[in-house]
Amino acid sequence: MTPASTANAPYVARDLAHIWHPCTQMKDHEREMPMIPIRRGEGVWLEDFGGRRYLDAVSSWWVNLFGHANPRINDAVRAQLERLEHVILAGFTHEAIIELSEALTSLAPQGLTRCFYADNGSAAVEVAVKMSFHYWRNVGRAQKRRFVTLSNSYHGETLGALAVGNVELYKSVYRPLLMDVITVPSPDCFDREPGESWADHSRRKFADMESALARHAHEVAAVIVEPLVQCAGGMRMYDPVYLAMLREACDRHEVHLIADEIAVGFGRTGTMFACEQAGIRPDLMCLSKGLTGGYLPLSVVMTPEPLFAAFYDEYTRLNAFLHSHSYTGNALACAAARATLGIFREDRVIERNRELAVHLGERVRALADHPHVAEVRQCGMIAAVELARDKATREPYPWQERRGLIVYRHGLERGALLRPIGNVVYFMPPYVITPEEIDFMVDVAREGIEQATRA
Ligand code: PMP
Repeated sequence: MTPASTANAPYVARDLAHIWHPCTQMKDHEREMPMIPIRRGEGVWLEDFGGRRYLDAVSSWWVNLFGHANPRINDAVRAQLERLEHVILAGFTHEAIIELSEALTSLAPQGLTRCFYADNGSAAVEVAVKMSFHYWRNVGRAQKRRFVTLSNSYHGETLGALAVGNVELYKSVYRPLLMDVITVPSPDCFDREPGESWADHSRRKFADMESALARHAHEVAAVIVEPLVQCAGGMRMYDPVYLAMLREACDRHEVHLIADEIAVGFGRTGTMFACEQAGIRPDLMCLSKGLTGGYLPLSVVMTPEPLFAAFYDEYTRLNAFLHSHSYTGNALACAAARATLGIFREDRVIERNRELAVHLGERVRALADHPHVAEVRQCGMIAAVELARDKATREPYPWQERRGLIVYRHGLERGALLRPIGNVVYFMPPYVITPEEIDFMVDVAREGIEQATRA
């Protein structure tokens, strides 16, 4: 044991005695995966109890935007804490949520004027699904109660969110518990023909969506998509033209469009919201993760006025939307979110990210020549490297070989938190990363890929 891991050991033992971790086969902590107790964070860096530092290349599950322990967000949360930590949001309100809602409605695609809050991404998806269904019921079209989703999509892991998602790993065991949905092949451009552009491929794949809507629109409440990047599905990407075509088709078929911008919102794809790149406004937009800069759990579903109006009625007609969580609109989380949006306003974040994204792209593209890299792709501040056993045929490494785990472990040894999804090594760092830190992050990934693809 190194001195550093000796300092971590007592925390690891106490953790493993009681804590059941998410997204984890706990037996892996015997040998395959070290448990890393973190004592502090600063900027893109996390530090363990032995003083070893890790560059957080995954923004702690895609939530962190402006670094750990960001002084401006810290101050905002501290100031809020002195005044009000939380108040019931039914019948009561507070300043932080009012200001946040004003800021969100001015930033979001025009016309999304109503904010319904929850406390995590999956809950936002549950809200959007229930709200869409309930809308159609309130306007006398109760038969519209099914949902259309894309293959390889991910929308969270509570039962409703899991049902409208499509990543087998998370879904298959629980399928008997889930509502039935209509699944349409994804426009994922990894599957495009040789020489075919992203736009052509995405446009061609829309035919499946068009025929599903033509057949089922009478019974469909909404189509739900992750705009531009299917993140948990392995950072698979598609062209904005698909969203533009989907918007037009949803209007024509009288079906809602739910944009799950939980992972891609707040600048990740190069624009504030991914939908902007298609020039569209969804009917329901789900936000979470970066909303609070990665500080506190909070989510929101934004909708236009007519959708809200379908619920606005005399009490006795029982048309009100029914969904509530105890911590809805938590004041500390809203204060963190308000400060986060303030940083976007004051710091020209989207412009600076453009320069960072160019640098990230140049560095990551250099991996494309590797004999086991099938594709390097990028959308704004998200970049991904897809490993394959056979570069030419794109035959994947069998999942049982856990090649990504080798990259993960190498990253920890070298001081970077890289967390591949299967055979996909990706980068989604906080926006406060410097070009030098990008170089380090990609270098560590390259070394990890060398190790992982040996033999
Ligand atoms: N939707 C998308 C697109 C996501 O990436 C995630 C989280 N990875 C969720 C929904 C669920 O959010 P949460 O983990 O906060 O429940």
